[in-house]
This record gives sequence, structure tokens and C-alpha cells, in this order.
Amino acid sequence: LTFLGIESSCDDSAAAVVRDDRSILASVVAGQAALHADFGGVVPEIAARAHAEKLDLCVEEALAQAGLRLSDVDGIAVTAGPGLIGGVLSGVMLAKGLAAGSGLPLVGVNHLAGHALTPRLTDGIPFPYLMLLVSGGHCQFLRVEGPADFTRLGGTIDDAPGEAFDKVAKLLGLPQPGGPAVEAAARAGDPRRFALPRPLLDRPGCDLSFSGLKTAVLRQRDALVAAQGGLHEQDRADLCAGFQAAVAEVLAEKTRRALALAPAPVLAVAGGVAANESLRAALQRVAAEAGATFLAPPLRLCTDNAAMIAWAGIEAYQAGRRDGMELAARPRWPLDQGAAPMLGAGK
Ligand code: ATP
Ligand code: FE
Repeated sequence: LTFLGIESSCDDSAAAVVRDDRSILASVVAGQAALHADFGGVVPEIAARAHAEKLDLCVEEALAQAGLRLSDVDGIAVTAGPGLIGGVLSGVMLAKGLAAGSGLPLVGVNHLAGHALTPRLTDGIPFPYLMLLVSGGHCQFLRVEGPADFTRLGGTIDDAPGEAFDKVAKLLGLPQPGGPAVEAAARAGDPRRFALPRPLLDRPGCDLSFSGLKTAVLRQRDALVAAQGGLHEQDRADLCAGFQAAVAEVLAEKTRRALALAPAPVLAVAGGVAANESLRAALQRVAAEAGATFLAPPLRLCTDNAAMIAWAGIEAYQAGRRDGMELAARPRWPLDQGAAPMLGAGK
């Protein structure tokens, strides 16, 4: 079984060809970072236009790399949400056009299910497992029990951790994306110099919060600027180290609770923040303590890509899922509200 996957829910246009034996025949990702760089964030209108321009080229490129024609694949999987509606619509319309023209089956995929099922594509692990999704837009614990069977154990009540890394970088005058910049600066820093909060640690459950942590960094910065007229290199390093340690500690403790609440043989991560070395180390310790294996797929499959969408499409297809021309693009689509998109894109 070979599927074409299409992804356009945020700022990456992507297409991929994946087989049910877990081989990735092609995975093309066309990022838009340069287009949004001047605006300090993703601009929905610019993203939608770029997807409309680039998505069909990504599909052509992916098929060419795989050495296949559209008629050689067995189905088309497309991200149907959640995400920026203009981008999701671009992908859904393209997929519908391709499906209608070729007669191939169409499967609408939840973007988060794509992330959550990635460890099965990369490592072939069985259900169930615990997934921690930590990216620029999401942060949640999912117990994954089947291709359409997800239980959300908790998640952020405000910012996503990647968003917090990006904002902290910005307020310390470091470049975007903030995660790698903060991690690099933190290497020379003392994580104990500044007392930063550990949000929600005192409360039971697996929910997280990151916006207060970012505000605490802002206050420390302002205090330093007021006292000494600016930031020294060491101040920056210490603030980054303190912030990163707080994020890692909070995520590790909440992961410990998630594993206690829903024991699983594997703890897997996805999302760009999973690239962070100190976070990885902390999660690895927590997994070992709980007798679980820690699994972090390669970064190019942890961040947004279409191979995960093609794979999730294959899993859904094998479970009997088919979508027709009524497939709707959904800006919001919570994972644990069932797999099938409701008709009409409601908020
Ligand atoms: P989503 O996939 O949820 O729509 P996104 O596309 O913004 O959101 P990703 O591409 O998965 O998310 O990840 C990007 C985020 O990961 C950015 O916020 C970036 O700062 C963060 N990030 C990348 N590398 C690191 C790192 N080494 N440490 C911490 N954060 C990092
Ligand atoms: Fe994503």
C-alpha cells in the first residue's frame, strides 16, 4: 500500500510518499520562514498564498523523487485540521482535485494524529504508548491506543513551550527560531542564578503553563536593565539557562505523572522542542525511572512534514476510513473527539 501525503496546516508546505512497510519513498518540505521573518510570526494570509503556490510543486517533486506517477499510489492523505484555515483549505482542495481526477481514495488526517503516530512509522512500535507533543503551537500528553484512539491526559493551558522559547529569545535580543538560540546561549549559563517559577507544579494532574515563566524572564530582564543599563552576555546566558531548566523540570515532572496515570512501555516525543538536549535528557531519566523506553524520532520527522500524514492516512485507511468530496477543513479538531471530521468546518 502506497500513499501520497499532503500537509499545509501551518507554515510548511509538504508532500510525501510512504509505503505501509514504513519506507519513506519521498518527503519534501518547503518552509516559509523567510516569508514571515519580517513579521515576528506566521502571517495567515501570506501562509495561505504560499501554500496555494507551492503545494502542487511539492506533490510533483515528491512523486518524482519516489519515481512514481499519481496512478501508481493507492490513496491520498491530507491534513484536514487543526491549523490555519487558509492553508488547510489549500491542501484539502488540492487533495480533492487529485482524488477526483484519479479516482483514488481520499483520507482526511488530523495533523496531531500525524505527530502522534510518527513513532509507529519510524520505529514500528505497538500500541499503547505515551506521546508528549511539544512544538511551537502545541503541548499535550496523549495516550495512544490505536490509529484513532487517543486519550488526552493534559496539556498547556496557555502558551506552547516552543512559543515560550521564541518569546524569551525575542525579549533577550536573540534570533528566531528562539529554541536553538536559547539552548546555545544556555550552555554558558548558570540555571540557578535567577529564581524562576515552576508553573502548575503544585497542582495535581498533567496540565502545564508557560506564559508566566516567560513573564518572569521579562521581569528579571527589566530589573537588570534598570539596575545596570543593559544586559551583559552572562546575564543572557544565565536567564536562558534558568528558563530552559524550568521548562525541562516542569515537563519532566508532568511526564512522570502522566506515566503514573497511564503506564506505557514507551514514552515518545514529537515537535520541534523535542530537539532540546536538556529536555531530552530529563525525559530520558523519567522514562527510565518508570521502566519505559524513551523514543525520539529524527528531527525532520518530529517537526511538520507530510510523511507523518501519509502514514496516518495509511493507518486510517487500513482501519476502514474513507472520506469523500464532503471532507471539511477544520481550524479546530481536538484529537480525542473521534477520528472522523464533522461536516462543516465549525470552530
Ligand atoms: P506546530 O507543529 O505545533 O504547528 P510549529 O510548526 O511552530 O508548530 P515545530 O516546527 O514542531 O512547531 O517546532 C518549532 C518550535 O520548536 C519553535 O518554537 C522552536 O523555537 C522550537 N525549537 C526548535 N529547536 C529547539 C531547541 N533546541 N530547544 C527548544 N525549542 C526548540
Ligand atoms: Fe505540527
